[in-house]
Amino acid sequence: MMLLLQPDQEIAWMAPYAYAIVLFGFILFLFRVFENWYASKYNKPLFRHYWVFKKLPKVQLDIIEKEFEFYKKLSEKHKRQFQHRVATFIAEKKFIGRENLEVTDRMKVLIASAGCMLSFGRKNYEYSLINFILIYPKEFYSAINDDYHKGEFNPRERALVLSWKDFEQGNKVADDNMNLGIHEFMHAMQLESRQSKDIDAVRFAKQFQNILVQLTDQNVKNKLDETRYFRAYAFTNQYEFMAVLAEYFIESPMDFKRHFPKLYSHTQKLLNFTFAGY
Ligand SMILES: [Zn+2]
Repeated sequence: MMLLLQPDQEIAWMAPYAYAIVLFGFILFLFRVFENWYASKYNKPLFRHYWVFKKLPKVQLDIIEKEFEFYKKLSEKHKRQFQHRVATFIAEKKFIGRENLEVTDRMKVLIASAGCMLSFGRKNYEYSLINFILIYPKEFYSAINDDYHKGEFNPRERALVLSWKDFEQGNKVADDNMNLGIHEFMHAMQLESRQSKDIDAVRFAKQFQNILVQLTDQNVKNKLDETRYFRAYAFTNQYEFMAVLAEYFIESPMDFKRHFPKLYSHTQKLLNFTFAGY
């Protein structure tokens, strides 16, 4: 008799824990439902960043503080978040130099910063489709279309490929609407948004639809034709359009806003970008 009772007693003893686990799971589920509702109602994530703050080694932080203009304009709180995200990015991606290029701290920090800047308004900032960052000294031969490239995002190899010379140029000249890093990171973000279902992907899809609707508006079409504001390459396909749009948004927000206020507003919502004067 005792032997038979024992397992029951053990189960009875565990019951409160089992309830607690079920309850916890249920609360988590409710939270997710609320989080999704909030993101779709207010066009931004409920939480962008949890209370974790990884620190960069001093030599890397010095580089951001000296060379990354966006960082200088952030509040102290956002600086801590940015530092955390750049540190996480550097820890998680593998940086590989090509054609004997030696990968330096400066390369890692500035590339990670470009990616984290573009995704700074998002909760999901990590570019899950990228595992490798391949860095060439300058333009490189690409077998994809038998031509020389300055950059490409290759989802099959899970690689972001950059010409360091052109990346640096894009970073240094802040207002010519050319920014190779931002361009390629937007390709990765857009593809991820098509494949994922998280709140940032859903928000991306929604604002992307708004942008497409804007592009069918006759007034906007006329203005695009007249002003030739966006460089012609933008109209290659929807991916290039979004990548070029991101470059203009990041490099000359005020100008962009003046020319195409609605397009600007949708892009801003898509990125949830409300920092540093944007
Ligand atoms: Zn492109």
